[in-house]
Amino acid sequence: MGNTIAGTPVSPGVAVAPIARLAPPPGLPADSGPEADVSAAVDKAQHALNAVADELGARAAATSGPASDVLFAQSMMPRDPALAIQIKAQLETGKSLPHAVVGAFGVFRSALEAAGGYLAERAADLDDLANRTIAEILGLPMPGIPNPGHPFVLVAADLAPADTAMLDTNQVRGIITELGGPTSHTAILAKSLGIPAIVACTEAASLEEGTTVLLDGASGKVRIAPSQEEIDGATAHAEQLARALAKSSGPGKTADGVAVKLLVNLGAPNELEAAAAADSEGVGLLRTEFLYLSKVTAPTVAEQTDSYAKVFTAFEGRKVVVRTIDAGADKPLKFVDHGVEENPALGVRGIRLTKRHPDMLTDQLTAIAAAAAQSSAEVWVMAPMVATPREAAEFAALAHEHGLQVAGTMVEVPAAALRAHQVLAGCDFASIGTNDLGQYTMAADRMQGELAELLDPWQPALLELVHQTAQAGKDAGKPVGVCGEAASDPLLALVLVGLGVTSLSMAPASIPAVRVSLAAHSLAQCSELAKLALTAESAAQARQLVSDSSQSIA
Ligand code: PEP
Ligand code: MG
Repeated sequence: MGNTIAGTPVSPGVAVAPIARLAPPPGLPADSGPEADVSAAVDKAQHALNAVADELGARAAATSGPASDVLFAQSMMPRDPALAIQIKAQLETGKSLPHAVVGAFGVFRSALEAAGGYLAERAADLDDLANRTIAEILGLPMPGIPNPGHPFVLVAADLAPADTAMLDTNQVRGIITELGGPTSHTAILAKSLGIPAIVACTEAASLEEGTTVLLDGASGKVRIAPSQEEIDGATAHAEQLARALAKSSGPGKTADGVAVKLLVNLGAPNELEAAAAADSEGVGLLRTEFLYLSKVTAPTVAEQTDSYAKVFTAFEGRKVVVRTIDAGADKPLKFVDHGVEENPALGVRGIRLTKRHPDMLTDQLTAIAAAAAQSSAEVWVMAPMVATPREAAEFAALAHEHGLQVAGTMVEVPAAALRAHQVLAGCDFASIGTNDLGQYTMAADRMQGELAELLDPWQPALLELVHQTAQAGKDAGKPVGVCGEAASDPLLALVLVGLGVTSLSMAPASIPAVRVSLAAHSLAQCSELAKLALTAESAAQARQLVSDSSQSIA
């Protein structure tokens, strides 16, 4: 019988599979000088290059969608005979084999970067290939997303958003990270892909490769080496809940028929299909920066128009709220000059980058307007990280000039919530980003798993700011939604609606439970629950009070 370990639940669902770890890139040993037998070293390098190409090719064949295309393109590169020739040339200058490999890949990397455009974008792939080739030569585990040849639960110290965006959902059944916060962008991506996930699970560091685990993404528990009975019980419960939720459909409304728009959050391109298929009224948050995580040069207006048109086409006739690029902090973009910042979360990120890169915003608005003109989707735009009424008004005016009629502001900086009346006076709507609003209200880094309690979206201080913003919306007659992770909690959704929020945007998989919860409560009941939450002394007490007073749906 196994043990149970626990972390912070971030994406619901049950997964049962052996674990496989994300291996770090291999350390480069000190250069031991010339190889005694250069031709044997070249053979060894060729063997390693072939093995890397074979492995990537096999993964491409076993994967579908954009991940497969990227893997296939990557698998072709090690087969280029010019690489082995360059490795030989590097060996002949007296380098040891691992250093000759790094040198050879470096030559091609510089050439690709110099070529610019699409080729420059592939330069970063060469670093990954060099690391893989060196790992093969040194007999170390392959770095990056593992490929055990069967479905697995991915375990990692942490994952970068770029790693998560490329995950093959057929293979990766669940995710456990040792670090990370519940509103980290990795957690958000996992949730959007519908992969059960747990973060801040420190004990996962001691899980042995290949151990079967039963992961419950709703409770945050991981059962190690579960019995068949435990697996059957957890799977049956998850299926029963899914069947109950599948019966709900249609627009969101309270028990007394007050409409609350239920929308989806969308980011990486591989989320589009599932997001469009979800029973929602549209997209409440299109995180456009997720479309360009791997690009090293700024996307052109034409490329951007194409990306947005794909989304608008998938959501014809529905609403799509496009957030302009929110680069910086944990989402650095390679084509943006982020400079060196001591505190990137408090730095030049989101709308603040406009002064440094004015074209980035105007190009993006041009592209959104062009794509919107070809579609019947109802396109709104909004700016991230707005702190002052002036920033909100300037953004809205610029968007209007570009022909985008509805332009709003994300409220994720406490200053914007405190001055919500003035912010809303200069724009058309607000959307509350509770992830960042929580981070900045509580002065707690959202990536920091240890601060999960402060980052809890039930914190009464955060709810107070949501209330203030929603009331400003009511006074101005302008919509105020929530698009942070708070919106996906069926119980907290009641409180948000009671505080005056008019729409909720969340990962597609979260919509049914929120719809069912809303349908079981009148607006007056939601208001009562909101009052209770505001009187609480802590996040835990707010959750408890509301849970005790609401109609359970579990
Ligand atoms: C937020 O901050 O709540 C939000 C929705 O934006 P992101 O999570 O992308 O920072
Ligand atoms: Mg944010």
